[in-house]
Amino acid sequence: MQSDATKDPTTVTLVNISTEKWPPRQRTYFGSLDVRSPAAGEAYAITAIHNCTAVMDLGDKRTMDIRISAREIAEDLAREINGDSGEGSFHGVFVAAGLEPTEAELADARRRLEEFQRRLVAAADLEWERTKNPMFITDLERRAARQLGLEKPWLYDPKPLAECPVCAEKIKPGVAVCKSCGAILDREKAAQYGLVTPKRTRRERSDASAETDGAGK
Ligand SMILES: [Zn+2]
Repeated sequence: MQSDATKDPTTVTLVNISTEKWPPRQRTYFGSLDVRSPAAGEAYAITAIHNCTAVMDLGDKRTMDIRISAREIAEDLAREINGDSGEGSFHGVFVAAGLEPTEAELADARRRLEEFQRRLVAAADLEWERTKNPMFITDLERRAARQLGLEKPWLYDPKPLAECPVCAEKIKPGVAVCKSCGAILDREKAAQYGLVTPKRTRRERSDASAETDGAGK
């Protein structure tokens, strides 16, 4: 089996125009690989991809070396990073034809990325229209709006659920009373709704016996 090594460049350029940091890519034939992201002021970042040899197990303790070209590996990585986010999914990673990306290649990537981001924002707008619930807006959609520099009512991050210090049940931010164990989490707010008697002074807080005195009046 004659390989085509002479025609195939041994190094191929994987280009990333997104500032997103991707988790390292794992492959049995090269281990772990970081796809670089552009630093501040950079329009793109380059990760050089090299040819690899994979060892294929044929059974009976026989193995065969399989050469995987740099281009195959780069295309595979680009597909993996770009894919999986729905129609037109593109996250800004592509394989350059040469060792440096051309202006045309970069412009094409920017157009595809913006198109995809606009699609995400449109989906979020629709969701917001229907539900007015920021929990239904995905991180991907928020990121798209931020990168496009758009102001959206759904753009703020939902507060993460906190934990009740008494029973460790997940509680929504700002609740006065834990619905699971009844612990008072915000005395002032609970008092406002008549759930507990308000404390009048700071001193009373350190002196629990004083609590009943002032409250009856
Ligand atoms: Zn609780």
